[in-house]
Amino acid sequence: MKRFTLPRDIYYGKDAMSVLKTVKGKKAVLVLGGGSMKKFGFVDKALSYLNEAGIETKLIENVEPDPSVETVMKGAETMREFEPDLIIAMGGGSPIDAAKAMWVFYEYPDTTFEEIIQPFSFPELRKKARFIAISSTSGTATEVTAFSVITDYEKGIKYPLADFNITPDIAIVDPELASTMPPKLTAHTGMDALTHAIEAYVSTEHSPFTDPLALKAIHMVFDYLPDSYKGDKDAREQMHYAQCLAGEAFSNALLGIVHSMAHKTGAAFSTGHIPHGCANAIYLPYVIKYNAKCAEARYADIARSIGIEGTDAECVEALCKKIDEYNVKLNIPKTLKEFGVNEDEFKQKVKEIAVNAVGDACTPSNPRPITPEEMEKLLTCTYYGTEVDF
Ligand code: FE
Repeated sequence: MKRFTLPRDIYYGKDAMSVLKTVKGKKAVLVLGGGSMKKFGFVDKALSYLNEAGIETKLIENVEPDPSVETVMKGAETMREFEPDLIIAMGGGSPIDAAKAMWVFYEYPDTTFEEIIQPFSFPELRKKARFIAISSTSGTATEVTAFSVITDYEKGIKYPLADFNITPDIAIVDPELASTMPPKLTAHTGMDALTHAIEAYVSTEHSPFTDPLALKAIHMVFDYLPDSYKGDKDAREQMHYAQCLAGEAFSNALLGIVHSMAHKTGAAFSTGHIPHGCANAIYLPYVIKYNAKCAEARYADIARSIGIEGTDAECVEALCKKIDEYNVKLNIPKTLKEFGVNEDEFKQKVKEIAVNAVGDACTPSNPRPITPEEMEKLLTCTYYGTEVDF
């Protein structure tokens, strides 16, 4: 038996946030990131809507990027004291991911990260609270997914949590919030969304339920991302929806090795963090060429859905070329070398990174299996920009 799960309600469009006036509840915690939502007035707006609904509120602020175990535990404690029946997370991926994990430890104070690390093993939630996610970036789609990533800085481990229990009850996809993203973030998160949709479409877990969502998302990203990057408001709105569709697809179809590679290289080099979406954008064409041996027809489907013609092989080639062109338009480098990763450091670390990437939670659903040796070769291609021919 398979399962397909999405939030019960998705409110989208201009002023979608005003639905907060009508939600039922007594007490709500609002989980927030570093302060941009406050600065742009969205927090005040949410609080006034909740006030209108007669709901008492409390803020949990300053969730850091890549939220930590400590932040999650502290937030859960605040929730246990305040006893909310609504958890509302607003902002980018980080506050929403953190709030999802806080929710688990709020409802189950005695559980541990070790107990919930096994995918789809969570205890049943919604005994104490329901969850509303309001996203401000157009990429992670955490407002509709069953995933959350929490970092244990002491142990140097990332916990990728996965369970349909943490799929939000309500997602609010209000384009006004995404209109505040700077261009670079727009480019990176947009390419993250494209990667989600393409990986979901070729994943071993793809299904008739996820395929249409993935294809539509891909179509929309190709149509709207360049203008969204330039600041066009309507294109930005469409991208906010496209990334959400991609999220609906990959929450149920899972991902592949583009994400495995991005996860394990993001913080690996002393030359600086590689933003998640930027890493995905760099790796995507190389991985398509690697995976095409097993999934050529699926990639050709994608290519044809955006108007590319030819044999399957020609379609795959043209799809990769198109992604390359978009990366150029979005000022995303073509190789890790161009990104600025030091060659000696790369050579020294690539073996270990390859092993880690093969062990990543996203690898099993990749359409073509991969060994650590093959992964090392693939990563090396992405460093120098050489052809993937194995
Ligand atoms: Fe991603």
